[in-house]
Amino acid sequence: MRRGVRPALACVVALAIGVVPPAGGTGHSRCGSHTWCDESLSADARADLLLAAMTREEKFGLMGGDDPFGVFTGNPATGVSRGIPRLGVPDLFLNDGPAGLRARAAGTTGLPAPAALASTFDPGLAVAFGDLIGDEATKRGVDLVLAPMVNIVRYPGSGRAFETYGEDPHLAARIAVGFVEGLQRNRGPALRRVVADPKHFAANNHEINRFTVSAEVDDRTLREIYLPAFEAAVTEAGAGTVMLSYNRVNGTHMTENGPLVNGLLKDEWGFDGFTITDWGFAQRSTAGAANNGTELEMPYRWWYSPAMLGAAVDTGQVSMTTIDEHVRRILRTMFAFGVFDRPAYPVADPVDIPAHGALARLIEESGIVLLRNEGILPLDLYPGATIALIGPEADRYVHGGGSSAVDPFYSVTPLEGITTRAAAEGVEVVHDDGSDRARAAAAAAGAEVTIVFGSVETTEFVDRPCLALACTPAERDQDGLIRDVAAANPNTIVMLETSSAVRMPWAEDVAAILEAWYPGEEGGNAMARVLFGDVDPGGRLPVTFPAREEDTPFYLHPERWPGIAERAEYSEGVFVGYRWYDEEAIEPLFPFGHGLSYTTFSYSGLEVADDGTTVTVSATVTNTGTRPGSDVAQLYLSKPGVAAPQPPRWLAGFRKVSLAPGESATMTFTLDARSLSYWDTAAHAWVVDPGCYGIHVGRSSRALALHGAVARGGAACE
Ligand code: BGC
Repeated sequence: MRRGVRPALACVVALAIGVVPPAGGTGHSRCGSHTWCDESLSADARADLLLAAMTREEKFGLMGGDDPFGVFTGNPATGVSRGIPRLGVPDLFLNDGPAGLRARAAGTTGLPAPAALASTFDPGLAVAFGDLIGDEATKRGVDLVLAPMVNIVRYPGSGRAFETYGEDPHLAARIAVGFVEGLQRNRGPALRRVVADPKHFAANNHEINRFTVSAEVDDRTLREIYLPAFEAAVTEAGAGTVMLSYNRVNGTHMTENGPLVNGLLKDEWGFDGFTITDWGFAQRSTAGAANNGTELEMPYRWWYSPAMLGAAVDTGQVSMTTIDEHVRRILRTMFAFGVFDRPAYPVADPVDIPAHGALARLIEESGIVLLRNEGILPLDLYPGATIALIGPEADRYVHGGGSSAVDPFYSVTPLEGITTRAAAEGVEVVHDDGSDRARAAAAAAGAEVTIVFGSVETTEFVDRPCLALACTPAERDQDGLIRDVAAANPNTIVMLETSSAVRMPWAEDVAAILEAWYPGEEGGNAMARVLFGDVDPGGRLPVTFPAREEDTPFYLHPERWPGIAERAEYSEGVFVGYRWYDEEAIEPLFPFGHGLSYTTFSYSGLEVADDGTTVTVSATVTNTGTRPGSDVAQLYLSKPGVAAPQPPRWLAGFRKVSLAPGESATMTFTLDARSLSYWDTAAHAWVVDPGCYGIHVGRSSRALALHGAVARGGAACE
């Protein structure tokens, strides 16, 4: 076990480096006795009263951040927007991030990567994940968390794929809604909420040239693929803020993209919170941003400095009405989340470390994907047997980099977790770091079972140039190591800790493959429990794993990724992820939704009820094996012959269920008109095409056991 900085020490460190929320704990409102401090008034009424009392300079001051260095110095807050003491406006502390709170000084829980959360296919766990981060925010002085990251995985080698919820908009939307609801839940008795910040709006799908690249993407693709998770986070979960991305969309920086920010986000979706720029390079102008929907420039007011805003107003480029609208949104959100009416959150309150660790472990166990199993798992070893762990990762805490990196309270390495669990069976564990391939193969040959680790390091700013474990000769030849180990011991299991899909040229040569993603602080324990069958591997793939580089939409298409001359052509359109492989009839290595269990399931009894508006589908899942286990029933729709190019199948529902041997459960899925719709660009509307829609239920996008149909527009189905 490796311990992080202890809270008491952390507090001293935090105070020494300056950016610290004021101490809370008085139990009193910070607002004072102004008229807008009356908690019985609505957030809108309070914002209006306060706005009327503000000077022009005070309004400008609220539109920009006040700490340019937070993110670079490791301060406890990634950023701060200072309040106005004269008017009782509190400071607002903003902190990353999607894989756990990034509060370095006092420590936080290292959760599994969001990719692992998506793999759980369990929105309930997403609520718990967000709730845990929200709880820690209230103990680390954080008012607003810069998460969730809901950009779709377009190119799996993107540096930030691990921060996302995968390639499918329906899955990403369901997980995002859970996260935001959990994070933003009221921790009462008075209003005590933490604000979410779904990011990065919009089409921020890779890292190369991220400050300048333009996603050249058609309307339909945006609506169907890249926007639904944002839409759901805003319209269903009521996210308080949205982060505007660095990249441009169809040539326009998002901080100046009036049609998407003012038109779509605010007017059409009814978003009543405020927008925040991504850090530093997202905003490019004063008037262009102010007139196109940007509220808060972070981490520091440059384009939104009082001088720049003053000049823009004085020269008539920006109206005071527009300024008022921005400030009103910021204030209204702060009122709605209780920021004025509670003390500042304390910066180093105790966290229930064991309970949070237990949740981190549960999420990881529910997100580990068993990709292949030739009968070797769960492990059943005799006392005195040996397991060889091969690779440096076995003895490391592997996690993603950049703004989502968390310094966890502690971490259990695979070596620690597996050694402890194996000891209970009288099984010995040895470790070889794999630096000498011949030695590693000898260690494998001397063991009953070998577990060889594979990983990729990913972070912001960089995309991996390929989907292999090693892309250049300078990188460690992990495929070679796995091959040598597998040749030395037929009982070789590969444990992957990767950000997203990777290629596995050795897949047929090994006895089992597990994808653990970046597994969080309890990773070693979760892996051990899955390996020994204490728990069923709960994960299903939220991204397609292609067999070959040539199979992806990007092969010999640099104009798609990373783009040419700062333009990334999204010319694959709606054919993203499994939609691409289905459309092109390419067999992936492992399809979207795939994941094995230690038991077996059968699907039966598909029923489709239709009242003309809502379609209700039910299907029965039975555990036909001898062990308890969990499965994810997945419902896909199909609709050949729509005027617009249509993916062969799209995910429209999923349900996770845990079943004892012999037990059955009937799952119900509700499909509304939107599930059946496509975005008709000319009509600027969601349209249900008349005809017959296929309904398919099964265990993955390529293992569909039950088939039915529903008709629309007077069509008849066979
Ligand atoms: C990232 C954001 C992050 C911000 C603050 C940026 O580089 O793109 O996701 O919230 O930094 O750390």
